[in-house]
Amino acid sequence: MIKDLRTINKTGLIENRTDFPANLNESPSAPPEWQRELAQAIRDPAELLRRLNLTDHFPAPWKPNVGDFPLLVPESFLNRMEPGNPHDPLLRQVLPDRSELASGNGFTKDAVGDIDALQGPGLLRKYTGRSLLITLGQCAIHCRYCFRRHFPYEEQPRSREEWQKTLELLADQPDVEEIILSGGDPLVLNDRRLRQMVQDLAAVPRLQRIRVHTRLPIVIPSRITEDLLGIFRETRLQPLFVVHANHPAEIAGECPWSLQQLVRSGIPTLNQAVLLRGVNDTTGIQAELCRRLINLGVIPYYLHQLDRVQGASHFETELPLGPRIVAELKTLLPGYAVPRFVREIPGQPSKTEILDVSAD
Ligand code: SF4
Repeated sequence: MIKDLRTINKTGLIENRTDFPANLNESPSAPPEWQRELAQAIRDPAELLRRLNLTDHFPAPWKPNVGDFPLLVPESFLNRMEPGNPHDPLLRQVLPDRSELASGNGFTKDAVGDIDALQGPGLLRKYTGRSLLITLGQCAIHCRYCFRRHFPYEEQPRSREEWQKTLELLADQPDVEEIILSGGDPLVLNDRRLRQMVQDLAAVPRLQRIRVHTRLPIVIPSRITEDLLGIFRETRLQPLFVVHANHPAEIAGECPWSLQQLVRSGIPTLNQAVLLRGVNDTTGIQAELCRRLINLGVIPYYLHQLDRVQGASHFETELPLGPRIVAELKTLLPGYAVPRFVREIPGQPSKTEILDVSAD
């Protein structure tokens, strides 16, 4: 559950009532461009449809009850959608659909076993050597298929003081070498909070690597600033970014520039995508996505089978499709450009790679 805790304050800036109440007021006269875009992101489905000349294609008023997971689309992502196309693959990822109300056999609120993996406040542990922090509950976009759309973010730490217990727990884990910043999206934190968090983590002696799972470089490319890159240049931890683009049309506008900034500043950058019915479920689309990524130096890492989260059943593809697409990609692209097709099975010690179309 990604609760939309934001309000717009008097300066027009986005303000989070709990996660970082002070930070956006530090320099109200000159907020970074990315914060302005986040504050002004579209939250009203009717406005989104109007901007895309699609009002006539959807019943009005189109406001399906999607509870705590409302529409959220930043302007730069909207700009990559095709006006007049109700099937636009970027639009389909963000527009609430009545299909979300279907229960979906086998679809649950915690599809990947996050709750069982919680070791302490905001700290998840699933795999050997790696732990994951639920850095915050906010994102810059709401993807309708999100596997954490029902996660109890409000129960996780918010202030630096609340994080101390988590850092102590982390320091007590003898084998953990890599920390993954996840959420929500960790790059929604402002630079001051993010730098503090990276510094606190660098003080944990056993940690060697910091991995950032983020969709910001794709959906609000202006988030990649010199100051942000500096945070990861300065730390003793080896940084690694895992971005999330599903369709080649996402790698357009300012997005290639942001990915290049990451790669050319020396940060290994990988992409993970989710196979989504009606969005990116053909070999041609996946091949073009991989090409655009590797042309920028971003390595296609994983193609995920959809996690069976409640509200997303209409995005699910038949299991043989993913391995078939990846097998075809191997005939079209260099090996380093072909993602591994995986699914997450709760309780397993790693992601499960599916190679054989007959495998389950
Ligand atoms: S950016 Fe990631 S965490 Fe946020 S809604 Fe999309 S898939 Fe979920």
